[in-house]
Amino acid sequence: MIERAHDPERLEPAPQTPPADGARPAGGAAQLDGLVVAIAHGYSEVWSAGETYLCVVRGKLLKRRPPPDARRQPTATYGRGGPVSGRTSPRERPRQAPVEPEPASDMTPTKVAAGDHVRFRPLGGGQGVIEEILPRRTVLSRARSEAGTEHVMVANLDHAVLVFAVRDPQPHFGMLDRYLALCEHARVEVTICLNKMDLGQPDEVTEAAALYERLGYTVIHTSATTGAGLDALRQRLAGRVSLLTGPSGVGKSSLINAILPGVELRTSEISEATGKGRHTTTGVRLLPLPGGGWLADSAGIRELALWNVPADHLARAFVELRPYLDQCEYEDCEHGEGEEGCALRRALAEGAIAPERFASFERLLAEARERERPAWEQ
Ligand code: GDP
Ligand code: ZN
Repeated sequence: MIERAHDPERLEPAPQTPPADGARPAGGAAQLDGLVVAIAHGYSEVWSAGETYLCVVRGKLLKRRPPPDARRQPTATYGRGGPVSGRTSPRERPRQAPVEPEPASDMTPTKVAAGDHVRFRPLGGGQGVIEEILPRRTVLSRARSEAGTEHVMVANLDHAVLVFAVRDPQPHFGMLDRYLALCEHARVEVTICLNKMDLGQPDEVTEAAALYERLGYTVIHTSATTGAGLDALRQRLAGRVSLLTGPSGVGKSSLINAILPGVELRTSEISEATGKGRHTTTGVRLLPLPGGGWLADSAGIRELALWNVPADHLARAFVELRPYLDQCEYEDCEHGEGEEGCALRRALAEGAIAPERFASFERLLAEARERERPAWEQ
């Protein structure tokens, strides 16, 4: 059992880096900043300046940092060689700017998740104690139980690559819209990756790709088989924390293997075999990318289909609906067919919104409402 290295009463603000003169604060080694790359059996694997430390979380995290806005301090993001850049807070990111984040308790964490930035105190022997979890920029979580508590799968994700095949299997754009809504809701930037381009792209896929580009999404074409487009994919991944996700059979494992040769993916066979059981597979692992940045690998989040966006957040999660949101005549407009004064419906009728996207919105909205109906009504 690892002893606590430090008296919690004496926790002081940590220096960003160990003191240059070698002075050590009372209580042991200087605190370090690190990135949690995996969690297993109650231990956190923390990466810091090229070393990995097996850490426990100090029994009680006493200090809670005020939310990032109050501090206006950029958060470091990690590449392979250490923090690579100061990042602006999500509010300052241009594309998702119109949406104010909900005050989410997950942003001021008390429980450590993969992707968390932490302050920890090394204990020697490659071990350490996490003393502070820094505020999160983003969280990707799923509802865990009937109790409705969120389980954070990965924190501080910058980017998700949504992989579909141009054919075999035929792309399901309704599912892409679901993924897009989830990522918008989580404020995670998106790249749409159309793989298997060597098989030839059907016209309807070309048209759909053009639609998503018009909406402002980056669409890339790849072939894990020929290697075409992999440089574009690498560029999209460089220097940030990304997740590669999409339906089964589209070539996710093949792409990851092409980008990270030699990496043993702890993947598919098991989750694929258990089918619906896949969401019970735990354990996100951040894999370092050769050019800097991290790729979140987990059979459990390879497919996002199990995540949901609450009904009252859905319209915001469709980028093209945002401009109309405050314009419905009634504040409690449900945007349903025949709804009086609905700005969304008007925009649809005027051709400003693609009907297939609106259909996706309605489908997800109906689903969310059904899910959120109180038990006594069902
Ligand atoms: P995953 O389920 O998304 O991880 O997909 P896999 O990587 O297991 O790939 C599914 C199948 O598609 C395998 O038979 C791959 O060999 C094949 N595949 C993957 N990428 C490509 C590609 O770019 N072109 C072609 N033609 N086949 C591919
Ligand atoms: Zn409306």
